[in-house]
Amino acid sequence: MATERTLCIIKPDAVEKNTAGAVLALLESAGFSILALKRTHLPQAVAEGFYAVHKARPFFGELVTFMTRSPVVIAVLERDDAVAQYRKVMGATDPAKADAGTIRKLYGANVGENAVHGSDSLDNAKNEIAYFFASSEVAPSA
Ligand code: GDP
Repeated sequence: MATERTLCIIKPDAVEKNTAGAVLALLESAGFSILALKRTHLPQAVAEGFYAVHKARPFFGELVTFMTRSPVVIAVLERDDAVAQYRKVMGATDPAKADAGTIRKLYGANVGENAVHGSDSLDNAKNEIAYFFASSEVAPSA
């Protein structure tokens, strides 16, 4: 399995509840290396740009309001098959439907406030990492 990188955003709901550290610990236990990490309060234009693919969806405004209401923690994760493995550890979009032990089951509240974001393809992972981090901010592979 090839080594890949993917983007994790610990969303405002999880950061507000002081569970960002627990999420990162779970990810490290699941075999991910954290190559870059930052806490930031997303400006509206940055959140809108990140979720531009969802612009036509009825929940877009709600999503941007949620993602900009307080700080997020953003991480670049690396391991073998990282994109698929992180989606597995993250759990279903709706925490009520997520498997036991997943991040969204443990820390998510509902389909909107679901604790974490994860890239859904290798191409999107590359674009999303570049959206938030200069290449000089991402550590070389361990
Ligand atoms: P993901 O890849 O599992 O994050 O899911 P999507 O790409 O479908 O949706 C992106 C994000 O939009 C989700 O993680 C939620 O935060 C939010 N979202 C999705 N569906 C809904 C919804 O029905 N209502 C609200 N308020 N937010 C939603």
